[in-house]
Amino acid sequence: AHQVHIIGGGLAGSEAAWQLAEAGVRVRLSEMRGSGTTTPAHHTDGLAELVCSNSFRSDDAENNAVGLLHQEMRTLGSLILREGDAHRVPAGSALAMDRDGFSAGVTAALAAHPNVEIVRERVETLPEHGLTIVATGPLTDPLLADNIGAATGSDALAFFDAIAPIVHRDSIDMETAWFQSRWNKGEGSDYINCPLSKDDYLAFHAALLAGEKTEFKEWEDVPYFEGCMPIEVMAERGVDTLRYGPMKGVGLDDPRTGRWPYAVVQLRQDNRQGTLWNMVGFQTKLKHAEQVRLFRTIPGLQNAEFARLGGLHRNTFIRSPELLDTELRLKSRLHLRFAGQMTGCEGYVESAAVGLLAGRFAAAEVLGHALAPPPVETALGALLNHITGGAAVETYQPMNVNFGLMPPIPGRTKKADRKRMYTDRARAALAGWLNPPRSVPVAADT
Ligand code: FAD
Repeated sequence: AHQVHIIGGGLAGSEAAWQLAEAGVRVRLSEMRGSGTTTPAHHTDGLAELVCSNSFRSDDAENNAVGLLHQEMRTLGSLILREGDAHRVPAGSALAMDRDGFSAGVTAALAAHPNVEIVRERVETLPEHGLTIVATGPLTDPLLADNIGAATGSDALAFFDAIAPIVHRDSIDMETAWFQSRWNKGEGSDYINCPLSKDDYLAFHAALLAGEKTEFKEWEDVPYFEGCMPIEVMAERGVDTLRYGPMKGVGLDDPRTGRWPYAVVQLRQDNRQGTLWNMVGFQTKLKHAEQVRLFRTIPGLQNAEFARLGGLHRNTFIRSPELLDTELRLKSRLHLRFAGQMTGCEGYVESAAVGLLAGRFAAAEVLGHALAPPPVETALGALLNHITGGAAVETYQPMNVNFGLMPPIPGRTKKADRKRMYTDRARAALAGWLNPPRSVPVAADT
């Protein structure tokens, strides 16, 4: 009989299964594809199918956060990275792969593992007991999604994302922007404000209308809710709609003029560490390159570095920072762990990384070991910390791994050196986690 039940054989579920199996734990992996049902984006019955691009993005572990995450996952014996490397195709500094070979490699490795039983079945309800990892992804089957909604509270499960861009705090020009909440409410300084003159605003409005947008897929059918309408759709409603909506300048005193600005872009703190700030009300379907170009025309954001760009997609994710403990367990039902994009991480690699952690935590629980979360200075630890408590709850939206999720490097540093400092610190922290100075047992490969 199995000791852990994994629901969903995508990027996260496959990695979780591998980590458990390699730790000596027996796993049942339920995957609905191959049982006569599928999702709107998958085309095959293979495990870990890549539904869109065939890239794991940058493989540069010295200067890039996702490249660092690759390296950490390789160190921890990741099956997803092993098969990605094995089926690599030329893609410059990116790790791209032959998608069919990759998926076939993952499927074969799990099928051959004596501790893994792959069952082609659609799971319709969350198990009442028994250690379980839910890794059913952004297109979780509707019956199970309803059941997850019932278990977590319906307002804690989202079926769409509405992503506003996030900016690294240290790239905002505070000579132009200033801290203040509208009418000095709350702390009085909760927001960063970027002022636009009438000319700035009219140019920005015209550029929004002209900007290139991405299209919805036919099955996405994303409704526009009031409150999370894309800025370009608001702009189409009239030249002043944004200026009376998210860009209103009333109650904000520009210290340089002593007056309310004609229009404003407000940013709100997005993580506990205060390194990331989201552009309030700026969810958008503009193409990513257009967003960077256009948002850098906003005074104060001329040098903005974006930790995340805006988007709007069909998705399924829970409000993890509120619902999950640091081991990815649902606080209200501790036998249930969540992994993959359901937790609100974004991307193939991040989904697999959270699967890897869920698998290791579950293995430690079965084997009776203590396993501390990886340090927040590592890419794995930073991602885990963000989704299990570091991110702001009200504005919680999918997130890729990035250096802004890590504690800032203390002291003054040259920008050119900073990425190297993050990755050097991460490697030391991972080594310390794998080989702690005192001999506490950890389920780690050596
Ligand atoms: P998935 O890989 O989707 O795995 C979930 C699995 O659970 C699926 O195999 C599914 O069949 C199964 N399942 C669902 N419900 C049930 C059930 N009730 N019972 C049994 N099995 C079930 N990320 C990128 O990095 N690059 C991209 O180019 C990219 N493109 C994307 C395009 C689309 C259309 C979507 C929706 C997402 C995309 N993503 C992309 C985001 C994300 O990284 C991937 O979706 C990733 O596969 C998520 O991994 P996962 O394991 O959480 O989910």
